[in-house]
Amino acid sequence: MKVLVTGGAGYIGSHTVVLLIDAGYEVVVFDNFSNASKESIRRVEAIVGKEIVVVEGDIRSREDLAKVFSSYKIDAVIHFAGLKAVGESVEQPLRYYDNNVNGSVVLCEVMSEYNCKSIIFSSSATVYGDPHTTPILENFPLSATNPYGRSKLMVEEILRDVYVSDNEWKIVLLRYFNPVGAHKSGSIGEDPNGLPNNLMPFIAQTAVGKREYLSVFGNNYDTVDGTGVRDYIHVVDLAQGHLNALDRIRNFNEPMTINLGTGNGYSVLEMVEAFEKASAKKVPYTIAERRVGDIATCFADPSYAKEVLDWEATRGIDEMCEDTWRWQSQNPNGYII
Ligand code: NAD
Ligand code: UDP
Repeated sequence: MKVLVTGGAGYIGSHTVVLLIDAGYEVVVFDNFSNASKESIRRVEAIVGKEIVVVEGDIRSREDLAKVFSSYKIDAVIHFAGLKAVGESVEQPLRYYDNNVNGSVVLCEVMSEYNCKSIIFSSSATVYGDPHTTPILENFPLSATNPYGRSKLMVEEILRDVYVSDNEWKIVLLRYFNPVGAHKSGSIGEDPNGLPNNLMPFIAQTAVGKREYLSVFGNNYDTVDGTGVRDYIHVVDLAQGHLNALDRIRNFNEPMTINLGTGNGYSVLEMVEAFEKASAKKVPYTIAERRVGDIATCFADPSYAKEVLDWEATRGIDEMCEDTWRWQSQNPNGYII
C-alpha cells in the first residue's frame, strides 16, 4: 500500500513515516519545508535504513500535487501539512486559512481526480474550545477561539461534506491532544522555530540552558496546583494511532472522528517536576500572567480510539520526558548541524 504523507518532514509526520516504513508501507513524503528541515528526512532514513521518496511541493499547488499522483499510485493520504502556531494565526488569519483550509481543499480535489479517496486528517483538541467538563468525548460541543482552531474545524466540516457528496470517501479525523516526546534514538524530535509556543519544548530548552527560565502562565486556575492541566501524549503513540487508522480505514462506512490522547491530565508544575527527574537538570521557572485564550483543563476520554482503532497510548509521562531530553540534549540547536 502506497501512502502519501503531507507534512511528512515535520514533527509528527517524521515519526509516523518511521513507523509506516517499519510496518512495510511504501511512503511518499510531500512537504514544502516551510516548517521543517531536510535533515529530518536524512535522520529518518538513517533510522529506517532506507532511502525515502520525498517530493518538495505545496498542498496549495494543483501542479505540485498532480505530479505526485501521476507519478505514484497513491492509495491513501495522511494529511499533516499545515501551519500550527495559535498566536501567529491571530496575526495572519488569511495565511492560515489559505494554507490549512485552501490547501486541504486543493488536496482533496486532486485526490478525487486521481480516484484516491482515503484520508486521515490531523485535527486537534483545540476544536473543543473551553470544554464544560473533562474528560472530553468526541461528541462534545465544538468551538474555536482563534483562526488556527477554526481552520481545523472548517477542514473537519469540509471533509464531512465531501463524504456526503460521495460516500466512496474514507475519512478519519484524528483529534490530537498534546504531542510531546521523541523517537528513542534521540535523532528526530520537535524543532520549533524561534521561541517555543508549547510547554514541553520550552521546558527542554530551559533544561539544556538555551532559555533562562520558564514562564508558567497562571497559577490560579481551578486545578490541582493552580497551573493548567493538559493531556500530553508521546509522539510515537500518536504516530501509531495513524497506522491503526490506516489499517482499518477500508472498513469504515462513515467519517470517523477520534480523540488521540492518554486520558491523563498533568499540570505545568507536574511536567516541570517530571522533566527535572528525567534530565537531572533544574528547570527554573517564574509565575507569569495567564496566557490569553488558555483554558484550565483539557484531557481526553480515549475510549472510542480503543474501541474502533484498538489503540491506546502506552508511554507514560516519565518516558515522554526522557525521550524529549535525549533529543534535546543530543541536538541542543535542533536540526541545525
Ligand atoms: P510541523 O510544523 O512540524 O509539521 C507540519 C509540516 O507541514 C511541516 O513539515 C511543514 O513544512 C509542512 N507544511 C506546512 N504547510 C505546507 C504546505 N502548504 N504544503 C506542504 N507542506 C506544508 O507540525 P506537527 O506538530 O508535526 O503537526 C502536524 C499536524 O498536526 C498539523 O496539521 C498540526 O496542525 C496538527 N496538530 C499538531 C499539534 C501539535 O501540538 N504539534 C496538535 C494538534 C494538531
Ligand atoms: N505553558 C506555560 N508556559 C509556556 C508554555 C505553556 O505555562 O511557556 C502552559 C499553558 O498555559 C498550558 C500548558 O502549558 O497550561 C500547555 O501549553 P501548550 O501551549 O503546550 O498547549 P495548549 O495550551 O495549546 O494545549
